[in-house]
Amino acid sequence: MSNTAPVVSLSTAGAEPVPVPLLDINRQNEPLRDEILAAITEVVDTGAFLKGPAVRDLEAEVARLCGVGHAVGCASGTDAILVALMAHGVGPGDEVILPSFTFFATAGCVSRLGATPVFADILPDTFNIDPADIARRITPATKAILPVHLFGQAADMDAINALAAEHGLPVIEDAAQAIGADYHGRPIGSLGSIGCISFYPTKNLGGMGDGGMITTDDAELASRMRILCDHGQEPRYYHHMVGLNSRLDTIQAAALGVKLKRLAGYAAARGRHAARYNEAFDNGAAGAVVTTPVEAPGCSSVWNQYTVRVAEGRRDALQSWLSERKIGAAIYYPVPLHLQNCFADLGYQRGDLPHTERAAEEVLSLPVFPELTAEEQDRVIDAVNAYAAVTSVRMAA
Ligand SMILES: *Cc1c(COP(=O)(O)O)cnc(C)c1O
Repeated sequence: MSNTAPVVSLSTAGAEPVPVPLLDINRQNEPLRDEILAAITEVVDTGAFLKGPAVRDLEAEVARLCGVGHAVGCASGTDAILVALMAHGVGPGDEVILPSFTFFATAGCVSRLGATPVFADILPDTFNIDPADIARRITPATKAILPVHLFGQAADMDAINALAAEHGLPVIEDAAQAIGADYHGRPIGSLGSIGCISFYPTKNLGGMGDGGMITTDDAELASRMRILCDHGQEPRYYHHMVGLNSRLDTIQAAALGVKLKRLAGYAAARGRHAARYNEAFDNGAAGAVVTTPVEAPGCSSVWNQYTVRVAEGRRDALQSWLSERKIGAAIYYPVPLHLQNCFADLGYQRGDLPHTERAAEEVLSLPVFPELTAEEQDRVIDAVNAYAAVTSVRMAA
């Protein structure tokens, strides 16, 4: 192997390398500081801390972005999923089919309602839930299908919706990581009966704390979810359902409104970084070690994460290699949900969801935040290529 030159220049000896963070939220918020503070000040001055005009404005804008008639603000992406399931009447004895390769909240909400999460495997190329495996897991107790648009790319919604229609089941989109993504020209949040969005600070539209939104084209579902988010009361002190207190604060909505105007630009920057990584890794030494992420036909990802697969047990070594060079990288997610302690009583075994378990061992997410500089990305690319060159030499020896 002749491709060892970069290793020398990237040696950790000598000058300390400048850190490349996995994500730097401040770089996005700092230039907007005055505008955000002005929006927040307006809320403080009016005192409309709950259900203020900024909440209504953000709901209208997110509804427009998602191409639906209704959007309801709530306290988090987790609450969005919980309320969506409640609106469809999910409760004890019901089963909800969802991926195991996702953030915990997707399944946690199902369990909290006394229903049973039924974990399906993923498609190895997109990391999204496999419609064929959903089909195998539908039973008379199935009450809903809950696909996740993982890492910013929509799940295979046409296949999932066809299956759901055949069995008369609602589809709830966990779109926490995918605001702004398209599926065959249609926006996420409009692809099922309800879409669930998160404004957690690391999401593509990141707030200054927790926040979430529920999208739907169904006026009756929208009204039920709005009532559920307000203790199930309508009007005040007349309770039709046992709801919860889950609201998007006006201050939060005001700050998010400032950032929503920039969302398309953020997504475009993420897309450029992803394309540059793909090009560099596929054509560099890294190609022998990492598999770059795939966009399915008709899908445009918003790249909440740029996630590669690392071959043959070398993922943790690559992460350490990057960490030694002060480059941030993270594993989303190291333990699939079907193997979590809290779900042990569901009886899943290692080997039950092979594509999920393999992904958990191989994935590594690299810095892809919009404000990542070309120099920083060069450092990531050079470091991954250097690792691949070194380990390929070692393996060949
Ligand atoms: C972040 C996330 C959630 C939860 O959103 P919060 O706003 O943090 O409650 C749910 N599902 C997925 C896939 C997520 O990434």
